Amino acid sequence: MRHCDILVIGGGIIGCSIAYYVSKAGRDVTIIEKGEFVSGTSSRCDGNILAIDKDPGFDSQMSLVSQRLVDELSRELEHSFEYRAPGSILVCESDEEMEAAEKWVDRQKAAGLPFRMLDRTDIRQESPYFADDLLGGLECATDSTVNPYLLAFSLLEDAKKRGTKVFQQTEVKEIKKENDRFIVHTSTGVFTADHVVNAAGVWAPRIGEMVNLSIPIQPRKGHIIVASRQQPVGCRKVMEFGYLISKFGGVRHVDPLTEKYGVALVFEPTESQNFLIGSSREFVGFNTKVSNEVIRCIANRTIRFYPKMADMMVIRSYAGLRPWTEDHLPIVSRVEEIPNFYIAAGHEGDGISLAAVTGKVIEELINDRETCIPIEPLRYDRFKERMLTR
Ligand SMILES: Cc1cc2nc3c(=O)[nH]c(=O)nc-3n(C[C@H](O)[C@H](O)[C@H](O)COP(=O)(O)OP(=O)(O)OC[C@H]3O[C@@H](n4cnc5c(N)ncnc54)[C@H](O)[C@@H]3O)c2cc1C
Repeated sequence: MRHCDILVIGGGIIGCSIAYYVSKAGRDVTIIEKGEFVSGTSSRCDGNILAIDKDPGFDSQMSLVSQRLVDELSRELEHSFEYRAPGSILVCESDEEMEAAEKWVDRQKAAGLPFRMLDRTDIRQESPYFADDLLGGLECATDSTVNPYLLAFSLLEDAKKRGTKVFQQTEVKEIKKENDRFIVHTSTGVFTADHVVNAAGVWAPRIGEMVNLSIPIQPRKGHIIVASRQQPVGCRKVMEFGYLISKFGGVRHVDPLTEKYGVALVFEPTESQNFLIGSSREFVGFNTKVSNEVIRCIANRTIRFYPKMADMMVIRSYAGLRPWTEDHLPIVSRVEEIPNFYIAAGHEGDGISLAAVTGKVIEELINDRETCIPIEPLRYDRFKERMLTR
């Protein structure tokens, strides 16, 4: 039996970030992962650190704090993780979207964020490969991008140097609490711990069940195409405005398949000279099999915005599961009824963006320090309160 001060369950980007910040604060950390490290959602995603798609207010302020922390990490961590901060843009294909975009920019500017509208000429300058009929769009100047896999490993390597113990192929099967200690049974033996952090992404509800907690997170599947860059199509992240509508569940004017699979263009040029092109949004359980129909739908959507992409080569495709919550905010929280048990999961399509701030907040909670952002909106209890008032 091994004893640890802090046991983190889940070796995705969230668990790795927690291990980094908590070990940096001088605590004894152990992180356990049921498969290989970073083999879950954090290796089946894009790497955007975005404020452009966040609701103005708490959501975007939290993203800005995380953007600043990632910028710091780019100087602090030994291994680089393909960090760039060129900003990002949303493009509009109708007058209706342009009007909605103007309102979005006004709200963001009022909240102090560096947003601006783009007209047809700006869009042309951004890329000569855009479809001729695009009307304009908007820009957020602070948005950045990373290789999520490298960022997670970079955080983990640094945590290891600070003494973090790591166990892979170690699946948590059962958790009990005896006196003030957690007894964690795994596929490779028993751990005891003073504090446990559930950072198991879409599997966090299963860990929750082991301590009689109902954690309302569901897998929301997304597909990505990796294409080879044969032409300089663009050098920063581009999304269609419809992505926002798709994300927040609004009604779009698109063909039935695009609507059915929640497909909206997300285009990300990577440092390795490829493009990541997405994406879809579906609730289809834990199935990560790639669907050709969804891939075709994403490809068609891409060609609608970049007709020239029809000539480019596809290298591969993959699908991942976003850990979805109904209010699109993660749970980064203590659990009042189980002292020293924490949840850091449910980041949906923002877990790369919010990994740094999540790791920092969990460190602050464990060390009983003032948190760098308000944590009220991220409380686990918020769902219980909603159930009672319904
Ligand atoms: C298509 C797509 C595109 C995306 N693009 C972006 C983007 O551009 N920007 C962004 O910010 N976010 C993006 N996301 C979201 C982001 O990928 C996730 O929010 C993030 O990866 C979640 O990280 P995590 O550590 O919580 O989960 P995971 O990476 O899934 O890690 C959880 C880990 O817990 C382990 N685990 C589970 N159960 C157990 C157990 N019983 N015992 C031990 N270990 C266990 C799992 O094996 C897994 O490795 C995207 C997601 C998808 C699907």
